[in-house]
Amino acid sequence: MTQNLKTFFIRTYGCQMNELDSEIMAGQLIKKGLTPVYDEEKADLIIFNTCSIRDLAERKVMGKLGIMGRGGKKNVVIGVTGCMAMAKKNALLEKFPHLDFVIGTNNITDLSHVIDEVIETKQQILKTDNQFEENLDYLATQRLNKVKAHVSIIRGCNKFCTYCIVPYTRGNEISRPPDSIVEECRSLVDRGYKEITLLGQNVNSYGKDQPEWNCLFHDLLYRLNAIQGLERIRFMTSHPVDITIELMHAIRDLPSICEFVHFPMQAGSNPILKKMHRIYTIEEYFEKVAMLREIVPNVSLGTDIIVGFPTETDAQFEETYEAMKKIRFSLAFIFAYSPRKGTPAKRWKDDVPESVKEERLQRLLDLQTQITNAELQQMLGQSFEVLVEKFNKDGRLLKGRTRCWKKIIFEGPESCIGTLQQIRVHSFSHQTMLGTLA
Ligand code: SF4
Repeated sequence: MTQNLKTFFIRTYGCQMNELDSEIMAGQLIKKGLTPVYDEEKADLIIFNTCSIRDLAERKVMGKLGIMGRGGKKNVVIGVTGCMAMAKKNALLEKFPHLDFVIGTNNITDLSHVIDEVIETKQQILKTDNQFEENLDYLATQRLNKVKAHVSIIRGCNKFCTYCIVPYTRGNEISRPPDSIVEECRSLVDRGYKEITLLGQNVNSYGKDQPEWNCLFHDLLYRLNAIQGLERIRFMTSHPVDITIELMHAIRDLPSICEFVHFPMQAGSNPILKKMHRIYTIEEYFEKVAMLREIVPNVSLGTDIIVGFPTETDAQFEETYEAMKKIRFSLAFIFAYSPRKGTPAKRWKDDVPESVKEERLQRLLDLQTQITNAELQQMLGQSFEVLVEKFNKDGRLLKGRTRCWKKIIFEGPESCIGTLQQIRVHSFSHQTMLGTLA
């Protein structure tokens, strides 16, 4: 094994929270004197930051670790971090003797010590605490994007939806002190960042675990909005139950808060919502959406939907279909249910046939395409404020997003990157609008 590690490579699977954790780990490793490389073959240390939400992500990591073990131990340190590390723990070390360490979601702060221990003892190391301790060096976070940044404000989740592994892999909700968040956001703005997305499994729960701070989510937004030069604030994700009237007022009143709310409905049928343990009825959900639209008339909504949850009948699926038609989300992430080990739903029979799940999924995808196209059609000829992020994949046109999260590409000089521009939309293709500098 390499005694003197010089380079590292991190491969990230899963959600934005995992991407941020990879950036935090990269910051720790750079502080330790290592250099990031973007070719795994050139790395002395390889980390797989994993996800347990989808089966496919797990299978990819397991397959990759299997291949790396062929032909015996190589001159490289290999670690697994993230949700899969937390879910599988020692089983990973037993299955892959060439794996050097497994670090759970609550232990990324221990990365540096764990690497030292691996080198010193030449033993496999396991660190998977159930609770997160707030002592990360956020200011060292290594970000690739120079225009917009993710900032962690709360970790874990107390909601225990029956299909979800997160409360078991990330533990209870732990809010980050508001001063630390404000300090990080201010430092990002000083370095030229224009947009910050506040991240957490349920950002709206922020501060509830620390009543003595007297700072709930909307209070935090007021503090962040006061940072000079911070043009845009986004947040994700939210649980409908915790979307309060105070938060709606903050979205309306604070100029930096973007008018886009991810408001995951998951299903449109009450028995299914109950079985999912979503703790709201569809009527309560509709009521909250109506209230938000009344307070913030130009708000756009996003959602997550699961089709084919155990026991979902045709009639119950139709209720989800009708709910989507009624609300007309701007953005929807729609999935066919697949049971995840370690969740309560895994104990129930996965009784909706795959062909039925596929059919339901396709119907919702088609519906969402119709809704999105109609929305984009209405935007033609209008101008929107766009934060210009980078060149599009073609390397010629520039790419950015509106406050309501619509992607726009247009022709313009490179100097536009990192600035806010007014773009007039003239057409669209799939979900991307095409425009010109207004
Ligand atoms: S609120 Fe979100 S993170 Fe929490 S258990 Fe439900 S689906 Fe999982």
